[in-house]
Parts: sequence; C-alpha cells; structure tokens
Amino acid sequence: MSGKPIFAKVALIGVGLIGSSMAHAMRRAGLAGHIAGYSHRPETLERARAVGFADSLHGELAACVKDADLVVLATPVGAYAALAAEIAPHLKKGAILSDVGSVKGAVLRDVGPHVPGGVHFIPAHPIAGTEQSGPESGFAELFDNRWCILTPPPDADAEAVETLTRFWRALGSNVEVMEAHHHDLVLAITSHVPHLIAYNIVGTADDLEHVTESEVIKYSAGGFRDFTRIAASDPTMWRDVFLNNREAVLEVLGRFSEDLSALQRAIRWGDGDALFNLFTRTRAIRRSIVDAGQDTAAPNFGRGKKTDQ
Ligand code: NAP
Repeated sequence: MSGKPIFAKVALIGVGLIGSSMAHAMRRAGLAGHIAGYSHRPETLERARAVGFADSLHGELAACVKDADLVVLATPVGAYAALAAEIAPHLKKGAILSDVGSVKGAVLRDVGPHVPGGVHFIPAHPIAGTEQSGPESGFAELFDNRWCILTPPPDADAEAVETLTRFWRALGSNVEVMEAHHHDLVLAITSHVPHLIAYNIVGTADDLEHVTESEVIKYSAGGFRDFTRIAASDPTMWRDVFLNNREAVLEVLGRFSEDLSALQRAIRWGDGDALFNLFTRTRAIRRSIVDAGQDTAAPNFGRGKKTDQ
C-alpha cells in the first residue's frame, strides 16, 4: 500500500515501540517524504539504525525537528516538558506538534505552554500497544483497526486537526476527537487501572511465601499468565502514566475497591446469585469487545486448542 505523502518530513522524538511502529506504518502507506528519529542514548540510535525504519537518526533534537511538518513526542510522558522546551525554538511555522502519550490532561499542561505561535499543537493517543518496548518491537500493523484519540485544545486549528485525522486513518486507525480530561477518565478504567491490578496481583504472588515461585510459574495457565503479560509492560512508561493521571486513576480505584469489597462479602456469605449475576454481565462485555473487532474470538486468545481455567 502506498500513497501520496501527507507530510514532507515527520520527526519522531523517541523510537521505541510506538515511534518505530509509526515509522513502519508510515512507510507502508507512503505517508512521509522523510522520517527522522531522535533518541537520547547512542545505543538506542544504533539499534534503530540496525532495524532501518528511519531516513535519518539524530542525537540532537534541533537537527531532528528542523523543517519537520509533523513532530511527534513518543517518549514516556514524564520527559515531555523538557523535550518541548528544547524543541520549541526549532519548530517550523505551520508545523503540527503531536504526541502519543497515554495521558492527555498532563500533556496539555506540560507541553502547551512551550508551543510557539504558528505551531499547531494536537495531542493524540493511539489505543494500541504490546508489552514490548524498544526500536525492535515496532511493526506496521500495530494501529490497524485500533482507535486513535485526538484531544485538541479548544482553540486548535480545524484544518490541522483534519490533517492529523487523515494521517492516523492512513496509519490504519479509526479516529475519535475527545476532551483531554474525559480521555483520562475513560483510559483510567480501560487501561490504567487494569494495568495497576496486573502489577499488583503479580507482586502479591511474588510475595506469597507459602507458594513457591516455581509453582506460580508452573501453574500460571490458570489465569495468572494473562496478568503477567500486562505486568511486563515498561516500568518507566507506566510510572509516568500513574503520576500523570492521578485524579482519574484514584477515582476509578475507589469504585473498584468498593466493588471488590462487595464481591468479598458475597463470597463470605455464600451469595452465589450475586457472583453468578456479575460473571454473566462481564461475559457479555467480553462478547461486545470481540464483536467490535477489538480482540479475537479464538479460545484462549488463539493460543491453541487447550483451554485453561
Ligand atoms: P518505549 O518502547 O520504551 O520507547 C520510548 C522511547 O523514548 C525510547 O526510544 C527511549 O529511549 C525514549 N526515551 C525515554 N526517556 C527519554 C527521555 N528522558 N528523553 C528522550 N527520550 C527518552 O515506549 P513506547 O511504548 O513506545 O511508549 C512511548 C509513549 O507511547 C509513552 O508516552 C506511552 O505512554 C505511549 N503509549 C504506549 C503504548 C504501549 O502500549 N506501549 C500505547 C499507547 C501509547 P531509551 O530506550 O534509549 O531510553
């Protein structure tokens, strides 16, 4: 698949899973005349060079963003403020400055004040990922049929929003525009708190002294294994997500704790109806996700015929 480039030059600040996947998907669809990548560590630049998804790679921010029509921040969000301050004087007039961060209110707060006049700042979040990180982990299909949420500030340029929408559609995504704080609440329940639960349960298992570590690993197909996949996600990225979406995560976590207490009570009092009704409701949610094309209907995520419990 190849088309007319949407941008003459795209600069990716960060060439890990998301940055490199964008590069692969841009190449697949011919969306950029030139793809430039930046990383702060020479080893990462070397690894990116070995994979070969960029036309130029830079250890200097100014050189990377020079003349770029689209600049995308694709590092952990905790690094955004310093990066934005440093690239601001080098951004081309009329360029779009965007990002892929998993939180959006904090991005408006941290990056917004640095954006020079004449540059269009339109944050974005592709709802697509894996537990892998680094330049080797990217692939062109990552965004196919996934949602990408744009959270333009209220005074954003409509034409720039339209161009970025066209770009994400060409990367394979469906695009939705949302207010940043609403995004953060939605993602707290669909992504951030589930990750926290996974990190917590894997940590709890690790701390359980009367179950040996080898038993935890040996019998992991009982359900634990699926939590370990999520709990293997990048520690820096996820630390920054929780530090930067505190309010929404705490709100959802409060509700989660109440519901967990209700389940605890149902188990204590032998209230089978309460358990059965909840499990029936949740099974229907799984079906809706499969029906919406957001996951496979194959048993056990298509891992084979054997079903685990
Ligand atoms: P990743 O694979 O770990 O890549 C992050 C990149 O940022 C690496 O190239 C890293 O270089 C660089 N970096 C880290 N700290 C930096 C700093 N202080 N200054 C400059 N560069 C720095 O992570 P990712 O999964 O692509 O995540 C990138 C962004 O996408 C995050 O904001 C995350 O919230 C968002 N996101 C992630 C997912 C997901 O599932 N992974 C999904 C949607 C959105 P080094 O390795 O050399 O440090």
